[in-house]
Amino acid sequence: MAYEYDRENIFAKILRGEIPNSTVAESTHSLAFLDISPAAPTHILVIPKGAYVNFDHFGVEATDAEIVDFNRMVAKITRDVGVAQMEGGEGYRLITNAGAHGVQDVPHFHVHIIGGRRLGRMISA
Ligand code: 5GP
Repeated sequence: MAYEYDRENIFAKILRGEIPNSTVAESTHSLAFLDISPAAPTHILVIPKGAYVNFDHFGVEATDAEIVDFNRMVAKITRDVGVAQMEGGEGYRLITNAGAHGVQDVPHFHVHIIGGRRLGRMISA
């Protein structure tokens, strides 16, 4: 089965500028912005600009340039916002949800960067 990308998902609208966002960083292939409903003091979403549904779609079909750009942005943001231990931070968690079992709400690949407080156990239910 091939993934079908829903061009009307919320992050597609953000990328087209139809919905405002609080941008944290932008690069050739990626965009990072604040989550509208933060789960912790730091809660940033990083998305590729390309039309990818989830991690495996992105990881298999994106170009090397897109993948490198995306990963570098995630890593750099952890330092820029001070959650990385390298910057004296206490650490962070990266989450990417996929599909029904992953409880993915927005069908455009994204990584959550969450930190700024001690997080609970990884899986609660
Ligand atoms: P998912 O469950 O798909 O992994 O996470 C989707 C995330 O997108 C949620 O944390 C939710 O708060 C966030 N979100 C949903 N709609 C918007 C929006 O319009 N703007 C922003 N900045 N975040 C959103």
